[in-house]
Amino acid sequence: MTTSTDATDRAVISELDAARRDFRDELLSAGLLFATGVEGLYGRGADFERVIDSIDARVLSEGRAAHGTAPKTLRFPPVFPRESFEKTDYIASFPNLTGAIRTFDGGNKEHRALLADREAGRDWDSHLESAGTMLVSAACHPSYSTLTGTLPEGGELLDIYGYCFRHEPAIDPARMQAFRMHEYVRVGDPQSAVEHRESWIPRGLQVLEDLGLDATPVIANDPFFGRAGKMLAANQRDENLKTELVVRLYGDLDDGTAVVSCNCHQDHFGETFDIRTADGEVAHSACVGFGMERIALAMFRTHGIDITRWPEHVRSELVA
Ligand SMILES: [Zn+2]
Repeated sequence: MTTSTDATDRAVISELDAARRDFRDELLSAGLLFATGVEGLYGRGADFERVIDSIDARVLSEGRAAHGTAPKTLRFPPVFPRESFEKTDYIASFPNLTGAIRTFDGGNKEHRALLADREAGRDWDSHLESAGTMLVSAACHPSYSTLTGTLPEGGELLDIYGYCFRHEPAIDPARMQAFRMHEYVRVGDPQSAVEHRESWIPRGLQVLEDLGLDATPVIANDPFFGRAGKMLAANQRDENLKTELVVRLYGDLDDGTAVVSCNCHQDHFGETFDIRTADGEVAHSACVGFGMERIALAMFRTHGIDITRWPEHVRSELVA
């Protein structure tokens, strides 16, 4: 039986899909993004990158204002060891978003079998073996293995910028499979982790306001997988561990798009990566992550596709 509510929901969903498709098509025809043939994977054009660099300049200036000491800068490739990935427990919570690297490790005979499958138009991926590496799941994930052991007095503050992978192909340009996060990560005692997360909520809002975006903080949870995941999600909300700064890209058609995320991991990474504070306790950690592509898309959505016509106060934030 179809109720009128179902019919209304369906109408909203199709209206939302249409809005997302229209926005994506607009970005593609303006040369801001380039299609690759796979949903959620795009090339980026010059103006898009200029906006990304401008957002980054603002994130860096806020970072300088926020932190008394200069953070340690760490940059990682988009691939990291499976051993580190293991310790994040990501595969338990988000198996559906995971990306693994595989390569060919056989001899001539195995290669012939691969080529035979390829020749016959069959999938040949099954001939590949694990390379022992994974695509980076969150920008901060490769950093924790560098901290195993005892932290300096006062803990550690990291500045991390890099590509992340989430396997969630979608029409919505704001749901990319590969995107950049700029993160500030605090690892130290419980209080410093909580303070880091809390202090970056108003700071994140200020950055977004300066970029001309109207954002709202929302207590949130990660999209944990499966039945056990429902409990993890409820726990994350109850303990107030995640706040997202949300911008509405499609009006009232959805709940908005999270563009910044402020997270407290408690002692999770301290435990699994064996990170201790100077006084021997298991370290706590927190991170703030700026979703660079999503912020850029929110700006194009809010101010228009043509950056030469953006309001002057926003244009003044653009780097040359
Ligand atoms: Zn993080």
